[in-house]
Amino acid sequence: MFFEVISLKILGLAKTSTVDYPSKLVSTIFLGGCNFDCEYCHNRALIKPEDRAPSISEEELISFLQSRKNIIEGLCITGGEATIWGEKLINLVRKIKTELGKDFLIKLDTNGSNSEFLQSYVKEFDYIAMDFKTINYKRYLNFSDEIIKESLDILKNSNVSYEIRITMYPPYINEADFESMAEVLKGINKVFLQEYKSVEFGSQETYSLSILEKFKDILIKNGIDAEIR
Ligand code: SF4
Repeated sequence: MFFEVISLKILGLAKTSTVDYPSKLVSTIFLGGCNFDCEYCHNRALIKPEDRAPSISEEELISFLQSRKNIIEGLCITGGEATIWGEKLINLVRKIKTELGKDFLIKLDTNGSNSEFLQSYVKEFDYIAMDFKTINYKRYLNFSDEIIKESLDILKNSNVSYEIRITMYPPYINEADFESMAEVLKGINKVFLQEYKSVEFGSQETYSLSILEKFKDILIKNGIDAEIR
């Protein structure tokens, strides 16, 4: 309810990024608010931003994008968790496509917790990156495993380009889970394994490259194109 009564909060803007959209130069915006509280979050200030946190208006964003139209190829929308903004987010996406043109690419980063949003709006994006954090959302993030599986299925069955990102955070992912995670991911085209980088409040434990390679091999054995990055 909190997020339905205030306007969409764009709390950050990276003017150019070479890493937020595969092979494209884009700008990135950071939306405030997230329904998860991952121990290793690097954007902790965005989880529950203060009401008075300074934000960029949609008009300012669009005018900035227009001024950069000849340099950047698109926009990455990340968070926080952007999909908590529901129709406000889609209205912004549509405005950008109207003002910048249909060829101006828009990528969504999501934690996968809003399968209803994905079901309704997956086609409005040119690329979606979804996190898959653990085989047991109930236990580690107090969230429904079924909804995450629904989101994976929506991406699998869509024609939209997508990737699944797995941050290899040992407290959320045990080596014993690798096979069952691969089972859930069957049918997914592309998975990137990301090394967990320790942060102040997360575990200091990290996986070695050989463990990441082991998981990658299990994914590949299950027909999934997997890479470490
Ligand atoms: S889903 Fe992303 S933004 Fe939200 S708490 Fe987890 S890492 Fe942070």
